[in-house]
Amino acid sequence: MIIGCHLSVSKGFAAMGRQALEIGANTFQFFTRNPRGGKAKDIDEADVNELKSIMLKNDFKVILAHAPYTLNPCSNDERVREFAFEAMSDDLKRMELLPGNLYNFHPGCHVGQGSERGIQLISEFLNSVLREDMHTTVLLETMAGKGSEIGGRFEELAAIIDGTKLKDKLGVCLDTCHVFDGGYDIVNRLEAVLEEFDRIIGIERLKAIHLNDSMNSLGSRKDRHQKIGQGGIGLEAFERIINNKSLRELPFYLETPNELDGYAEEIRLLKKLRRAV
Ligand code: FE
Ligand code: FE
Ligand code: ZN
Repeated sequence: MIIGCHLSVSKGFAAMGRQALEIGANTFQFFTRNPRGGKAKDIDEADVNELKSIMLKNDFKVILAHAPYTLNPCSNDERVREFAFEAMSDDLKRMELLPGNLYNFHPGCHVGQGSERGIQLISEFLNSVLREDMHTTVLLETMAGKGSEIGGRFEELAAIIDGTKLKDKLGVCLDTCHVFDGGYDIVNRLEAVLEEFDRIIGIERLKAIHLNDSMNSLGSRKDRHQKIGQGGIGLEAFERIINNKSLRELPFYLETPNELDGYAEEIRLLKKLRRAV
């Protein structure tokens, strides 16, 4: 089982690798820069190389970088769109130091321009930021559909991918809290939701899962994460999710409201619920 959680990059890359090991994880997610935006720290190559050797020694298959929340490629403000371009191009360039991993971003908010225009802007953005020679898979995250957020419906993600030229560089990260808040009933109809995902996007695009319970109920469109088993989704649904045949080989990332010890406990719990095939 590939499982980990969100970690802070503040002490460097190798430190995240060591932290992951301490809490029983074999992957992790991190923000490429301050989640509210701003400049990324210069990368220390020795530090990255140390992480690479930790990953190799401990059989870490893949790690997931997360773009800052402020990145909005479909803003109506050109400067905001430019920041999105600069931040993601820079992030993807840095990711080449860790080839073969994943980079996740929130598709964006159309801020009143309408979802059709938003989708078009996101595809144009991807057409300018993705490069044939890169070694990272860029993931669109499924969103709760809060406000003018794009990505609350599978159709929107499919349309973005459809408008993007370098489709082999693209995938999707499914966030359990987001899809549940967006109205997809993964508690009672997990198989049907995955069939719908497959029909509209294609299950082969699914590359990672954000495992979060939800503070709210199905279709609430709120996006407030809760600890595993303590929210609207509940532990039994998570047991089905981590053992599902289409999902079980994917990397799972916790983004629950926890400190390290809380994450360690959730990882232990989920590993206990994992069944052999
Ligand atoms: Fe996210
Ligand atoms: Fe998420
Ligand atoms: Zn969220």
